[in-house]
Order: sequence, then structure tokens, then C-alpha cells
Amino acid sequence: MKIVVQKFGGTSVATAESREKALKRIIESKSQGYSPVVVVSAMGRKGEPYATDTLIDLVKSIHSNVEPRELDLLISCGEVISSVIMATLLKNMGHQAIALTGGQAGICTDGTYGNAQIIDIDPGFIRGCLAEGYIVVVAGFQGICSDGSTTTLGRGGSDTTATALGAALEAEYVEIYTDVDGVMTTDPRVIPDAAIMKDVSYREICEMAHHGAKVIHPRAVEAAMSGKVPIKIKNTFSDAEGTLIAENIDERVITGLAHQTNISQVKVGPLDGKAVQMAKVKVLKTMAEAGISIDMIGVAPNSIFFVINGDNTKGASQVLQEAGYNFLVDTGCAKISVIGAGMVGVPGVMAKAMESLDRAGVTVLQTSDSDITISFLIKEQDVSRGMQILYERFDLGKR
Ligand code: ADP
Ligand code: MG
Repeated sequence: MKIVVQKFGGTSVATAESREKALKRIIESKSQGYSPVVVVSAMGRKGEPYATDTLIDLVKSIHSNVEPRELDLLISCGEVISSVIMATLLKNMGHQAIALTGGQAGICTDGTYGNAQIIDIDPGFIRGCLAEGYIVVVAGFQGICSDGSTTTLGRGGSDTTATALGAALEAEYVEIYTDVDGVMTTDPRVIPDAAIMKDVSYREICEMAHHGAKVIHPRAVEAAMSGKVPIKIKNTFSDAEGTLIAENIDERVITGLAHQTNISQVKVGPLDGKAVQMAKVKVLKTMAEAGISIDMIGVAPNSIFFVINGDNTKGASQVLQEAGYNFLVDTGCAKISVIGAGMVGVPGVMAKAMESLDRAGVTVLQTSDSDITISFLIKEQDVSRGMQILYERFDLGKR
């Protein structure tokens, strides 16, 4: 049995017209001799009747503090509705099809409501359905935990459903259908004519996703990578070839750019006295105990600085104030990351980027780097300009 997993995102199942295009892709793989396992997101985006955000607004209009278990049960419904609609449409067209919730598809998770991790998949039931010739349509973004409660996997969770199922079913490949022609060298919402990559390694796309490229969720890439299942990112609405994500792809010096907005920079200091080292450790512990994750950590002789998600600005300020620290917070920051597995050991990448940003008048507030990524903290209003400058500097329009 040759299995292919095909995931359709929100815009791909939103309207009758887009669903028709998605159905065509499913039937096409069936007619090519594949056994398709379809994973669907909820239909449409905020404001549309069955979209996830609409369901959240519905219950929050009654009570602002819904129990996480119940909120998950509610928001899992968007994908369930979508799976039934797609299975019914397939049946109308004369195909055998069955809709499954995540739990019915054998997806077991931990009990972290709202951001559950898949811990195991029992693919037995799906395999049985496929053996009988059914097209299986699985509701994305969900599973069940040990007490049988429905859990959801967090933003981008349907991507993870698809790749984790792909790995568990030993699928030939996983297709992620969305509204762009493939993975681009940078976010097309910032640089509309960004070049499409023919292929990219798991490692590089994972890094791009971690640094804000929303085209696929990093967890989804990790699941595919551990099962060595190739992913193809394709456009439901065009015949573009798309992007292949796999292991043995030639890595470039600079592969792409990613960005994140709504970041706050926190500088704690001056820290004085004899125990200045210990004071820095205490600052880090204070943030950890408050459950606030920090990034781009830097230390100077008598200060420590880092960035946080802008949503945590109030919380972070409160705990630092209560602990009696001197600190400054700069809100409205953004991070641009330059990613490329080939930059390891290549000198001058940081200098090139800094020089270009400086010439364009973009102030760099802080930097950080790992072996395949360099990140620049800048002000939010400089994002478009900064991205454009780096895009040109690293020739990312040519693929
Ligand atoms: P879906 O609902 O199909 O999962 P998403 O909105 O989650 O779709 O992801 C697709 C979007 O990701 C695109 O419309 C695009 O704006 C955005 N995106 C961000 N970075 C990139 C990138 N490097 N390449 C392609 N798309 C990107
Ligand atoms: Mg998505």
C-alpha cells in the first residue's frame, strides 16, 4: 500500500470553490494508485462561522475564563466539521470515505490543553480503513489524552497531525496544501515577489519556522524528520511544483529570512555589589519561575539583557519590580533572522548584514547567533526596510 498524507489548510477548505480544488487533488492521488489520508483544518479564518477563532469568541461571550479542557473540546469542533464535510463531498462523488476525529485516528497526546504534544499514534484503524479502499479524512489539530479528553495541538497543529500521521503510517510523502506556491526565501507578505525554493532541508526550514516563518509549524517538521518522511509544500490554487522538504538537500550559505514582531527588549541593571554574578542568575530564575520564556540573552559586566514576547511585557515588568531590580523595557521591537546551514565557518556574514542595515539607517539594538542563524533585534517600523535590504544583500531573489 502506497500511502500519501494530504493536508489542507484553512483557506483550502473555506469555500465550495476551494474545496472543489482540494477534492481534485485527493482524487488525483487515488487515481495514481495512492491511498490518501486527508488532514483538514477548520474552514476559513476569524469571522467565518466555523473558524476556530469564531468558536472561541462564541464561548468567551458567555464566560471569559473557560476551563482549558472545555475550550479544547469546543475548538476541536472546527476541524471535525471540516472532516465530515470533506468526507461527505467525496462520497457524493462516488468514493468511499470516512471522517475521523484525532482520537479516532489513534492520536494520543499529553494533557497540556491548548498546546498538547503527540506522544503516540496507533495507526491500526486508519490502516484497516485504507485496506478496505476508504479515503480517510482526519480532523487536524487534535488528539486525546490518557483520560479520554480531547486535546488540541496549538497553532499550526494540523501540520503536525499530517506529518506525525505520515511518519506513523510510513507514508511515501506528506503534502501540505496552502495558499502560496511553496516555501519562499522570505515571508511573501513582507516581500511579495519573494523567490520560491525548489527544495530545502528539514534543518533549515525548521530553523526558519522557529524564527517566525509561518508556512509550516516547526513541530511538524520535527515529526517528519524523525520519520524521514519527505514533505511537499504546495498551492491548492495553482499547478506550481511547490517545495520539497527532505534530508539530503544541498544547503546554501544563506537560505532565507524570517521575522517576528511584537517583541520587547528588557535590560536589567546596573547590578552591583559583590554578588553580581549571582544577581544575573537570579534574574533568569525570576523569569523562569514566572513562566516567561526569554531569548537573545546577553550579559555585560553589571547588567543582563534579553527579549520576551510583547504579550508578556506587563507580567515581566511586574515580577522584576517586585524583586526590586532596576530595569528598562523597550516595546515595539522585531527580530529579523538570516538562516543558512552553509554559513557555518563562512566569515563575514554578520559584517555584511550589519553594514547593509547601517547604510539603510536601520538601528540594530541587539544580535544573537547560532551556527546556522544570525538574528537582529530592530524596531518594528524598520522591519520592511530591513528585510528588503537583507533580501537584496544576500541575493535571495535568485533561486
Ligand atoms: P494554512 O492555513 O494553509 O496552514 P498559513 O497561513 O498557516 O496557511 O501558512 C501560509 C502562509 O505562510 C502564507 O500565506 C504566507 O503568507 C506565510 N509565510 C510566511 N513565511 C513564509 C515563507 N518563507 N514562505 C511561504 N509562505 C510564508
Ligand atoms: Mg498553517
